[in-house]
Formats: sequence, structure tokens, C-alpha cells
Amino acid sequence: MTVHSAAAEAGRKPNLFHFTRAPRPMVDRAEGIYLWDRTGRRYIDGSSGAVNVNIGHGNRAVIDAMKRQMNQVCFAYTIHFESEPAVELARGLAARLPNGLERIYFVSGGSEAVEACLKLARQWAVVTGQPKRWKIIGRMPSYHGITVGSLGVTGDDVLTKAFEPMGQPMPLIPAPMVHRDNDNLSLEERGLRYADMLEAKILGEGPESVLAFLMEPIGGAATAALVPPDSYFARIREICDRYGILLIHDEVMTGIGRTGKFLGGDHWNCKPDIISLSKGLSSGYAPLGALAATERIVGPVVAAGGFLHGHTYGGNPVACAAGLAVLGEVDRLGLIGNAAAMGEVLKGELEALTRHFPFVGDVRGKGLLLGAELYADPVTKTPLPPELNANVRLIDLAFERGLIVYSRRVRGGPFSDNFMVAPPLIVTREQIGEIVSVLGDTLEALA
Ligand code: PLP
Repeated sequence: MTVHSAAAEAGRKPNLFHFTRAPRPMVDRAEGIYLWDRTGRRYIDGSSGAVNVNIGHGNRAVIDAMKRQMNQVCFAYTIHFESEPAVELARGLAARLPNGLERIYFVSGGSEAVEACLKLARQWAVVTGQPKRWKIIGRMPSYHGITVGSLGVTGDDVLTKAFEPMGQPMPLIPAPMVHRDNDNLSLEERGLRYADMLEAKILGEGPESVLAFLMEPIGGAATAALVPPDSYFARIREICDRYGILLIHDEVMTGIGRTGKFLGGDHWNCKPDIISLSKGLSSGYAPLGALAATERIVGPVVAAGGFLHGHTYGGNPVACAAGLAVLGEVDRLGLIGNAAAMGEVLKGELEALTRHFPFVGDVRGKGLLLGAELYADPVTKTPLPPELNANVRLIDLAFERGLIVYSRRVRGGPFSDNFMVAPPLIVTREQIGEIVSVLGDTLEALA
């Protein structure tokens, strides 16, 4: 594959380094669901970047709003000033969020948002006389971010082990990978079985020490659009309430319309106490994240002197202006409805692909967060041999053909390779045809 790395192009040693070793082409421009590199080669953004460019590339309304804000004021420190974009974005979010999640706190990304959720929960426990509560139960596999705190609740041995004992590895329960189970239970019974693992874990840890349970309503990066059975959600809330434990939903990937509802949890009318947001919140136009929490959580923390947390760039006016304009575009362009409708089309097409490629199985997801697994045998769930590196090959083969897909290996729990297709929410029926056609060629090459 011919790629044109920045350093090679310039004929010098690279200064930048990343978490990937592969050379990448120099990006030149982007519009809608497409990106072009410097050689003029076009790529379909089938993963919306890191599943964040929800409104698509090159949106003029957002760019203009950011320019206007930059002409007015680029930065004012939140300790000194409120800024109108931050106030209005908080208001816009509160109006769209369920369960009284009306108190908003801005940060600059997803890991920062999760980190802030964990710290807000802990400070709430301390100021409400529950200092023994500190454990946040997470799931295996899962991905909640890359900072030391958020890694502590991430279920991915490859990312976490090297950094232990830094941070505090938290207790994890299995993610509800019900499609892998080989038992006589119905899907809904399996959902309850996985939810009840939370109760068992709470009892094992000592309920008085447990502060919160953290989960993605629809599993993203670690589990490729894993949708738990309906029964899972109400039972999880019930268990949290029974033991006075906070429910934190990580909506970094699933939020802002990605799954065909404003939040992933809205498909089940979930009532979390705290949520994290990022990615689609600014759609990649600026680094932005947020937490939203109920007054029950934020009130006592504010009354006790305020949240002991803050970043220089939290609530940055230009980033918030981008977020506010993104919310406007999500409404104006009807992107949540389009995600639901185009998601159905794309899911049907992916299911059709599995009939041609028997090594693709378990197509799943909601809206435009869709995924599938790669198996040697999807009936027995036998994984492909790890040395095939099917996930890396799939990414490379698709990239060579001008399609960007998201593909990873499940790391923790039963092994397999998976992939996600998650194009921008502006995608049209014709463009879905284009994505599926290139994906078909890619799978043909992988077979
Ligand atoms: N939480 C979830 C669910 C994510 O998918 C991600 C990123 O993929 C993060 C947190 C971390 O976000 P960021 O990469 O912006 O730090």
C-alpha cells in the first residue's frame, strides 16, 4: 500500500509520535463524509474519524460560528468569566437530557469527561457523609478513556496492565456479550443474568465501599456496538438503587444522536445519575467534552464549596461555540432521525453481507453505531487465528480501497476480532451503497 507519511514526504526524521506505528498519508481536505489526502486520493469516512464527526466534515454553520466567537473572544478563564456559548450550550444540553441531568460541566475530551464523572461521584460521597464509598465498578471488556483514572475502570488488559499499580484498578464485571453464550436461556433472561452479576460484585466488594457503576449503554470501541437485552437496563438501575450506588453512563461515543436517539440510554428510558459526553458534542470541530449530572449530585458538592476539579481549557468559548452550533445543525438537518433511518438501511445491508461472507457474524448496533464480529465459524463462535491479525488487515484492506472502518480485537473475555461501521449522521442512502460496496470488496480480499 502506498502511503505518504508526513516525515517521508519532507525527507526528515519525524518529530510527532502517536499510538500507531503505521505511516499515514497527509490529510489535505474534508467535506461531508469524505476526506482527501495530499495526492488527491479520496477516503469515505466510514468511522466518522473516531466515531466523533457526527455532523460530517466541512460544516459551514459550525465553522462560521467558531469564527464569530474567535473574533469576539478566544479565551476567558472560567474562574474569571462566564461565556455565552458555554451558558447556552449547557442550557441546550439540559433541555435535551433525561432524568433531570441539568447540571453541566465542560472539559476537553472523552477521557477528561469520564475522569470528571468519577471525581464528582467521589466528592458527592465525601460531602454527603459516605466517605467509605470509592469503588467504581466497570465492565470487561470496555473502554472509558486513556488517562490514569479512566483506565482504572477500563476493561482492556493491553491498555491497563503496563500502568499498574499507577491509578487504582477497579472491580469489573463481564460485559453482556449475550451473543456468545451457549445456554438455554432467552436473550432477556441472559440480560438479567448479566445485570445480576453487578449485585454479586457489590456484595463481594462490600456494598458500603461501592460508589458507582459505570457502563456504556451500547458498548462502543471495546465491543463493537454491543446492545444488551432490554431487561438489562431496568435491572441495573434497580440494583444501583437497592445499594445506594450511583449509575454513570458513558455516552461519549453513543451521545448526540449517534444511535438514532439523543443518548444511547434513551432507547430504554434510562435514568443515570451522571453521564459523560464528548465526540459528537463538537463533532471534531474543537476538543470538547462534558459531564451532566442531577441536582441531587451537584447540589451538595456546590454547597460544600464547589467541585475540586478544573482544567485551563474547560468551557473554552470557541469549543463551546462549536458545540452549540453542532446542536443547532443536529436539529436543523434532522440528524437523529436520519441516523435511525439510515442505520436501519445500513444494518440490513451488513446483514446481507454476512450471507456472502460466512466469517462475518453477529451484526448488531443501533442507528449509525453498527458492528459485527469476524469468526472462523460464526455458529460455534470460533475466532479467527490471532496471528491472522484480521482486525488490522481489515483496516488496511479497506483503507487501500478508500474506506475507513473501525476494527479492533476484543481484549478481555472471549477472544475475537470485530469491526464497526459508523459513518457521519448526514450519510445518504446512495453513500451507504458506496460504503457497503467497498466493504464487500474489502471482505472479499480478507477472505
Ligand atoms: N469513553 C468512551 C465510551 C469512548 O469511546 C472514548 C473514546 O473512544 C473515551 C471515553 C475517551 O475519549 P477521548 O479519546 O476523547 O479521550
